[in-house]
Amino acid sequence: MPFSDLPPILGTALSERGYAAPTPVQAAVLEADAYGRDLIVSAQTGSGKTVAFGLAMASDLLSDDGRLPPAAAPLALVIAPTRELALQVSRELIWLYGKAGARIATCVGGMDAGKERRALGYGAQIVVGTPGRLRDHLERGALDLSALRAVVLDEADEMLDMGFREDLEEILDATPAERRTLLFSATMPAPIVSLARRYQRDALRISTVSEDRGHGDISYQAMAVAPADIENAVVNLLRFHEAETAMLFCATRDNVRHLHASLIERGFAAVALSGEHSQNERNSALQALRDKRARVCVATDVAARGIDLPSLSLVVHVEIPRDAETLQHRSGRTGRAGKKGTAVLIVPYPRRRRVEGMLRGARIPAEWVPAPSAADIRKADSERMLAALLAPVEYDEHDQALAERLLAERSPQEIAAALVHAHRARLPEPEDLLASDAPQEPRGPRPGFEGSAWFRINVGRNQNADPRWILPLICRRGHVSRSEIGAIRIAAHETLFEVPGPLAARFLDAVRRTANEEDEVEIQPVDGKPRDEARRHRRDNARPVHAPKPYRAHTGRPDHGKPSAPKGPGKPAGGKKGNWHKKPGKGPK
Ligand code: AMP
Repeated sequence: MPFSDLPPILGTALSERGYAAPTPVQAAVLEADAYGRDLIVSAQTGSGKTVAFGLAMASDLLSDDGRLPPAAAPLALVIAPTRELALQVSRELIWLYGKAGARIATCVGGMDAGKERRALGYGAQIVVGTPGRLRDHLERGALDLSALRAVVLDEADEMLDMGFREDLEEILDATPAERRTLLFSATMPAPIVSLARRYQRDALRISTVSEDRGHGDISYQAMAVAPADIENAVVNLLRFHEAETAMLFCATRDNVRHLHASLIERGFAAVALSGEHSQNERNSALQALRDKRARVCVATDVAARGIDLPSLSLVVHVEIPRDAETLQHRSGRTGRAGKKGTAVLIVPYPRRRRVEGMLRGARIPAEWVPAPSAADIRKADSERMLAALLAPVEYDEHDQALAERLLAERSPQEIAAALVHAHRARLPEPEDLLASDAPQEPRGPRPGFEGSAWFRINVGRNQNADPRWILPLICRRGHVSRSEIGAIRIAAHETLFEVPGPLAARFLDAVRRTANEEDEVEIQPVDGKPRDEARRHRRDNARPVHAPKPYRAHTGRPDHGKPSAPKGPGKPAGGKKGNWHKKPGKGPK
């Protein structure tokens, strides 16, 4: 059914929104055989599924005049896994059904329950909420489900994963048996099938996943970096893409806080979304992204689930997702409703194999590319700047008069240079990454290494040992600089490296103090005759390498790890250092 066959009020709302034709999932729910039936729909976020269930409910809600009459009790209930998603669904239904006279009550954890009770009491025809809060209102008698005609379970797989089964069952058991049940889920694992069996009747199965977009509108890139370079790679990615809106995913609240603070300090307009933020803070962070006061959102998985920001064109997996499903959920924040997006995985060298396996398992073709260098960024900046400065501008007499005064004082070259300078000054500085293809130092004894001590690390070629991550790890663990490390010899299962003799005791002491039980990478002194050991390694076909030079600290910022309190939207960040710097040891398997 085209949109033109819909009740006119809905058709107008869609065309005012600029939506000319239904997406595949919308077309499927508008087919004649779906009319009035229970539906079980496989649809990804970004497929237009919210409007799809909004339209599917129309026949249950609208009276003959195409309007929504006042109702003593709710007619439709939408249950979503997170507050953000519930608020988003609510916003979509407000523009879709607003002109039809809909009152929509939104009931989500963290918001004022009293206000929600009042909204329910005023006679909302549509209620949208999260399972826990809805159950709460139900148990306190504020939510009357006796007149319900349709219930929607949005992202049902997420709700079950998040442990909401009991809440859902209690809510569904309180609804009339003849209600319609529309179940939307990105995946259809066994628990969803059994939920559907218990609560649906003769449901029509709709799957548009392959037609929708799959990964079609998202191009995946992976970039292997030294663990110490993760943050710099993030900075360069943001600077290279200059996306209108970008989302960065971290594994923990601490890391969100740290990265957010660091980006603010560097001059990015960034907000943070994690479980430590109140609902009001989250709402204002999202609002800042929507109205373009902020362009970067640093988030944890849970906080970002289901978020829809149409201008979001770049997703960065700052820390690699725990599984392929999380990878797809995070990446699905971009490439929505037919728009193109890029998802980039930043992969510490030791974890490259794991990520390759995850991508293979999820059948995601990713291109392995180097992180953008400072030179790449300056080149892209120049092109963007030229395009911006050469674009036609409308100016008035006042502008013209000022221009003439400037020309009287300065040459056109000086004015143009000042303009370019002002343009550049607004941009955060790109970072120099540890050189991935730096020339290797010529072999031979290095001054200061004559009486050196040898140490062993329990990872070798078979565990992806590479000086690009081994070196920063040694520096960090042993509190030495790169120039204080001599030869590095990588064998199949272990790596030997050289430290100047006079530093050996201090190095060993630091290594022991910084050892962490969770670290899988261990550094130990080589017992016996180190030179013999080194020789044995050479004999064992070890690949000798030397530290690439020159060395620079991993951020180049002396105050790194002690970010100042950020200004701007999002919660002020503390100064704890993100632990992605510390864990290359987790990688080698
Ligand atoms: P959803 O899958 O519900 O998260 O929707 C993803 C985005 O697509 C939202 O911003 C919707 O407003 C937008 N959208 C929904 N239907 C259409 C349509 N028919 N044409 C273009 N965009 C749409």
